[in-house]
Amino acid sequence: MIEFKDVSLVYPNGTKGLKNINVHIKKGEFVVIVGLSGAGKSTFIRSINRLVTPTSGALFVDDVDTLQVKGKDLRQLRTKIGMIFQNYNLVKRSTVMKNVISGRLGYTGTLKSIFAIFSKEDRLLAYENLKRVNIEEKLYHRADELSGGQQQRVSIARVLTQKPKLILADEPVASLDPPTSHQVMQYLKQINQEDNITTIVNLHFIDMAMEYADRIIGMRAGEVVFDGPVSEVTEKT
Ligand code: ADP
Ligand code: ADP
Repeated sequence: MIEFKDVSLVYPNGTKGLKNINVHIKKGEFVVIVGLSGAGKSTFIRSINRLVTPTSGALFVDDVDTLQVKGKDLRQLRTKIGMIFQNYNLVKRSTVMKNVISGRLGYTGTLKSIFAIFSKEDRLLAYENLKRVNIEEKLYHRADELSGGQQQRVSIARVLTQKPKLILADEPVASLDPPTSHQVMQYLKQINQEDNITTIVNLHFIDMAMEYADRIIGMRAGEVVFDGPVSEVTEKT
């Protein structure tokens, strides 16, 4: 489903974000990327939906070379990719329901989605998706009335409303305490298993990665230094 072929990314200031990455991720995999801050995890994830643009190589999502697409085709590509951020990226003053429905539009936080009038189907879908992460009772609350863990669950519900083929989560639990982090990881894993949605998650902590991943990719200084199932992770790696 995703294939990095010799992908490199050099930022305008000369920093090498990615160096000759070759990785193939199959449909339905739950992949966790681990590495220290600055290792390139975020650059790896953001390359896939072109929030950043690699400078060389080829990066396929469903047989489309994402480095060749632009404009309408790029927006089309992004509608299939659900993105979860460390800081939730909800529209804080907007209701949970509006935030979740905005996922259907394939992007988030736009004025259009804030002022739109939503159909009964939209509201029902928002409710169903909030139910999957057990936060449906907050439907009419403002996003900024919720705790961090609750906001992240809302952002998962928003991504579900997008009906994604792929979920990318960039440090989804870095701002949360350990019990809440586990809860969020459990929801991501459950959705991966139930809906067979390919999921790629960046994490700081190897312990948490070992607990949830099918496969771990270790990064250091823009390179993949480990790629394999959890059972092959040893102390040295
Ligand atoms: P991680 O997610 O593992 O913390 P990043 O992908 O954010 O790593 O960063 C990889 C490297 O690229 C780091 O050296 C970082 O400082 C650098 N970097 C990230 N974003 C930019 C940017 N916009 N401009 C220049 N350098 C960047
Ligand atoms: P994260 O650890 O979540 O990647 P950072 O604090 O490293 O976040 O980066 C925050 C923002 O700054 C990101 O948009 C990243 O691309 C950018 N950034 C990171 N490192 C650099 C850098 N060396 N030069 C310019 N921008 C950077």
